[in-house]
Amino acid sequence: MDFLQPRSWDEALAAKAEHPEAQPIAGGTDVMVELNFDRGRPEAILDLTRVPELAEWGRDNGWLRVGAGVTYTRVIAELAGDLPGLAIASRTVGSPQIRNRGTVGGNLGSASPAGDAHPPLLAAGAEVEAASVGGTRRIPVAEFFAGPKRHVLRPDELIAAFHVPPAPGPQQFAKVGTRNAMVIAVCSFALALDPGRRTVRTGIGSAGPTPLAAGEAERFLEGVLADEGAWESRAPVGDAALRRFGELAGRAAQPIDDVRGTAAYRVHALAVLARRTLAWAWEEYASQDPGGPR
Ligand SMILES: Cc1cc2nc3c(=O)[nH]c(=O)nc-3n(C[C@H](O)[C@H](O)[C@H](O)COP(=O)(O)OP(=O)(O)OC[C@H]3O[C@@H](n4cnc5c(N)ncnc54)[C@H](O)[C@@H]3O)c2cc1C
Repeated sequence: MDFLQPRSWDEALAAKAEHPEAQPIAGGTDVMVELNFDRGRPEAILDLTRVPELAEWGRDNGWLRVGAGVTYTRVIAELAGDLPGLAIASRTVGSPQIRNRGTVGGNLGSASPAGDAHPPLLAAGAEVEAASVGGTRRIPVAEFFAGPKRHVLRPDELIAAFHVPPAPGPQQFAKVGTRNAMVIAVCSFALALDPGRRTVRTGIGSAGPTPLAAGEAERFLEGVLADEGAWESRAPVGDAALRRFGELAGRAAQPIDDVRGTAAYRVHALAVLARRTLAWAWEEYASQDPGGPR
């Protein structure tokens, strides 16, 4: 097995162009598990840990650009104010050791239906920056995943970063697992409110081949909030609307029965998570001073 270790982003892209079969490795928390269990034997490994550009984040035209090599620990420490939904999800990933090594870029690269970063990125309207020696392109997260463990990157492309607007309002994330830590999601749900645009966005995880948006639930809630003037009054969302939102969110899933749970359980649990995350996010919105900062 060849081991390629570029020292810069340009070198990394050149190496990927020359060795499209090379498997990138960032934190290695997915790749090394596969190797250790002998589930695959890549011809070459492309180590991205020495590429400083991947570990950077900054602001770009009012959006955040977060390098693919930024770890969960850093998302929590440095980006929780701008990306609260992703930070909440990051806190649920693995253990401190996994969060120290594991990266959001690696989560996108694995494209596991259970990837915890995916639902908040989808709800927040994030875009993946894919790059090759030929140039870069931005792919909305909603179009990035092609199926379980599959994405739309070409063999000569690497994930450079993801782009996402700083949260314009409350964001939430919740996941169901068999215990509180070190657990793959049975299902998960992310919610993002945008009081300026009067929109509600969602992301369902681990209950379909790819992360899914609950479009009907979003439109239903936007209708209720507009009809009731709730964005202005900040009055609580009624029980019937909460229940209906949950029901529609559960219906948007495309779950299967597997070792972690049945499809029916996932639909039920998603309805609960959707109701809960909405109640938490709305409570945060209601408690904010309309004249003050977000
Ligand atoms: C004990 C344990 C607990 C875990 N718990 C969770 C959990 O709670 N939630 C969760 O979502 N995940 C969990 N994981 C899985 C894993 O930690 C995450 O998916 C993590 O985000 C992977 O990031 P990484 O940097 O380690 O990726 P790596 O293992 O280095 O790479 C993962 C994949 O992405 C590709 N890749 C990496 N970087 C790039 C790039 N820049 N461009 C293109 N492709 C790239 C690799 O080729 C590989 O296919 C857990 C893993 C372990 C071992």
